[in-house]
Amino acid sequence: MRHGKLACALALALALGGCVQTTGTGVSGVSRSQLMLVSSNEVNQQAAQAYAQVLAQARQQRALDTNPTLTRRVQSIASRLAAQVGYFRPDATQWAWEAHVINSSELNAWCMAGGKIAVYSGIVEQLGLTDDELAVVMGHEMTHALREHIREQQSQEAVRSGLLGALSALGFGAAASLADTVSNLGIMLPFSRAHENEADEIGLELMYRAGFDPDAGPRVWEKMSAVSGSQPVPILSTHPSNESRISTLRELAARLKASPRQD
Ligand SMILES: [Zn+2]
Repeated sequence: MRHGKLACALALALALGGCVQTTGTGVSGVSRSQLMLVSSNEVNQQAAQAYAQVLAQARQQRALDTNPTLTRRVQSIASRLAAQVGYFRPDATQWAWEAHVINSSELNAWCMAGGKIAVYSGIVEQLGLTDDELAVVMGHEMTHALREHIREQQSQEAVRSGLLGALSALGFGAAASLADTVSNLGIMLPFSRAHENEADEIGLELMYRAGFDPDAGPRVWEKMSAVSGSQPVPILSTHPSNESRISTLRELAARLKASPRQD
C-alpha cells in the first residue's frame, strides 16, 4: 500500500513530463537531454510577472533606464543577439525579448525565462565593459533562458520534493533528510555547473554569430575574477565560476573563429 504511493509518484512524474533537447547543436557542441516536468508557459508567465514587478520597483526608485546612452547600447546588443537565437531554437525568435538597465552599483545581469533581460549599470561601469564584453555577458544570460535552465531546476525540485514526500510518507524521515542533504550538496550542484558551462559556450557562439569578437569571452571572466577579491560580485554567486571556465572560452573562441558562420 505504502510502496504503491511511491510508485504512483514516480509514474506521475514520468507521465507528466519527459526529456527534451531545448537547443540545437552548434559549433560549441552542447548537447544534453533535460528532464522537464513543469510547463514552459507556466514558467514564462511567472517570469513575465516577476520582470514587470522588478521594472516597476526600479522605476519607482528612479533606477530604470536612467542613462539613455547605456540603455541604447544594451538594447541594441540585445536585438543583435536576439536576431541569432533561431539558429539554436527557432521558436525563440517569437519570444518577446526585452532588455532594460537597472541603475545600481551591483555587478549583476540576468535573463529571466522567456527572454526578459536586465543589466545593472555597475557591471558595465566598474568592469569598463566594451560592447563585445557586454555581448558575452548578455549572450551567457540569454542562453540560460534558451536552455530553459530555470524550468529544468524547477523540474528537478519537483522530483526531489516528490521523492522526499513519498519517503516521509513511507516513514523514512531520516532517509528523507539525508536525501535532502545529498541532493543539495551532490545533485543540484553539478547541474548548476553544467548550466554555467552551457551558458558560457552557447552564449559565446551566439555573440559570435551576431558579429561580436569571441576573444572578449575569456577577458570578461578575467575581469570579474580580478575584482572579486576586493568586492562582492553578485553575478558570480548566482553563476558559479570554475578554474576551467577561462581556458574553455579561450579554446572555443579560437574554434569559432576558425569555422565559417553557418545559417
Ligand atoms: Zn550563468
